Amino acid sequence: MAVDPLIELRDVNKYFGELHVLQDINLTVGRGEVVVVIGPSGSGKSTLCRAINRLETVESGSIVIDGRPLPAEGKGLAQLRAEVGMVFQSFNLFAHKTVLDNVSLAQVKVRKRKKGAADRRSRELLERVGLAAHADKFPAQLSGGQQQRVAIARALAMDPKALLFDEPTSALDPEMINEVLEVMRQLARDGMTMIVVTHEMGFARSAANRVVFMADGCVVEDRVPEDFFTSPSSDRAKDFLSKIL
Ligand code: ADP
Ligand code: MG
Repeated sequence: MAVDPLIELRDVNKYFGELHVLQDINLTVGRGEVVVVIGPSGSGKSTLCRAINRLETVESGSIVIDGRPLPAEGKGLAQLRAEVGMVFQSFNLFAHKTVLDNVSLAQVKVRKRKKGAADRRSRELLERVGLAAHADKFPAQLSGGQQQRVAIARALAMDPKALLFDEPTSALDPEMINEVLEVMRQLARDGMTMIVVTHEMGFARSAANRVVFMADGCVVEDRVPEDFFTSPSSDRAKDFLSKIL
């Protein structure tokens, strides 16, 4: 697939001191594609996401978002981060702001919207993630699953071209995982381009166009889910799957 690439990584390398954390990463994500990234702890999945959102610099290679190379620094960076939203394991909501304000804040600061327009957009998005009734509450009054849905609404409020999810359900109690995955499935159906780091293999099977398996800083497999799960070609992936399935 990937006839219309939105995110392209070419020969990307990154080091943390001696640790070669991303090794010659080549990855293309097409517009509207959902790519699930899996792999053992420490394999570089979070670093990959952070590099794509330019929260980490890389030593070599190129990362191109919608035809534009990532700027090394400066003004273009905030704009770029707004174009590729990120949802983390820890929701990182502002505790002393209401749900509505959490979703509106960056719209005003980064997108330069008027507060009224931002709040209208926030209410639409809260409706979309099933939280319209909770707009005036504070994060601590919500469950973990609800807070993560607020974080998704907040990311969507920037009108991103793509969303990165780094283990969005790993901090949640089991009964809350599905409500978050369901919002993500709906986004996928609506055509959002997504990279999702997750251990939720059911989600990978049902929502992903491709599964990327990482180990020791390398992309070891990049396959359609059915092929990956039924006939992984590498020993690393076989070993990984035998432990989690
Ligand atoms: P994953 O998300 O797959 O668990 P990470 O991308 O978080 O993996 O980490 C990959 C490797 O890089 C791990 O060995 C981790 O300890 C190391 N690492 C991550 N962030 C840093 C950092 N800021 N400084 C040094 N080492 C790091
Ligand atoms: Mg991680």
